[in-house]
Amino acid sequence: MTTDSAGRLWVVATPIGNLDDLSARAREVLGRVALIAAEDTRHSAPLLARYGIATRAVALHEHNERDEAERLVARLRGGEDIALISDAGTPLVSDPGFRLVRAARAAGIVVSPVPGACAAIAALSVAGLPSDRFVFEGFLPAKAAARRERLAELAGETRTLVFYESSHRVRETLDDMAAAFGAARPAVLARELTKLFETVIDADLATLIARVAADPNQSRGEFVLLVGGRPEQEDARLAEGRRVFALLREELPPARAAKLAAAISGAPRKALYGSDDG
Ligand code: SAM
Repeated sequence: MTTDSAGRLWVVATPIGNLDDLSARAREVLGRVALIAAEDTRHSAPLLARYGIATRAVALHEHNERDEAERLVARLRGGEDIALISDAGTPLVSDPGFRLVRAARAAGIVVSPVPGACAAIAALSVAGLPSDRFVFEGFLPAKAAARRERLAELAGETRTLVFYESSHRVRETLDDMAAAFGAARPAVLARELTKLFETVIDADLATLIARVAADPNQSRGEFVLLVGGRPEQEDARLAEGRRVFALLREELPPARAAKLAAAISGAPRKALYGSDDG
């Protein structure tokens, strides 16, 4: 049960690049709470310093969240207000904070958002892909086999797909996406949003792959990758063929995988893998 004397947990979004994107309310809340729980206190120090926020910060990251959440909830119960921030954007969105929010809510603490930047939403808002419905997939698995399996599972998804990706994997991921969804699928690479080298490229997956291969700068920095959903009119057999192909490609040479996937799904082999051999 909520008690009147308990403090409040404020979940505060911080900028994803451009420090001017910290809202006036975020500044006010961060300046007046008893404590800031930050993913990395050193990372957040320049932001806090820029706005003259002198509130004490403690670290709350994936390795200590379980223990720290309990300690913070005790302080909230004792009447202190606490703000939760992550390194960038909205806490809990591919960032720590879930355990703390859940523990606070379980303890009857009021949890309030101070909304602001989120890379996924910022990218979606400029991508020009259908945005009335979308699926946020966050980071794909780092290991190639698991990543391909996940993409194969998503091949039939008709809503716009939103992924986070790191610079050292973006090329591999684009290749895997082309294999799973077909190279003609529309996609958007949203890089370094709100920063100096902000670039948003919309094309099909084949073109994106070529652009990134031709210009190494396009694989530097931070990325959101968006992929249009499977067109409603796309042949269901083709979608199934792509899914099976992406799975078989893990174990077999591509041409052989395409031949089997075509036989299993009834999709044309050339639509799965653009080669006549095998
Ligand atoms: N909580 C954050 C949010 O609300 O966007 C996301 C944190 S997640 C650990 C970091 C990932 O978000 C990066 O690897 C990248 O995929 C994406 N990202 C963060 N800032 C970005 C930016 N300025 N431009 C493009 N993508 C960004």
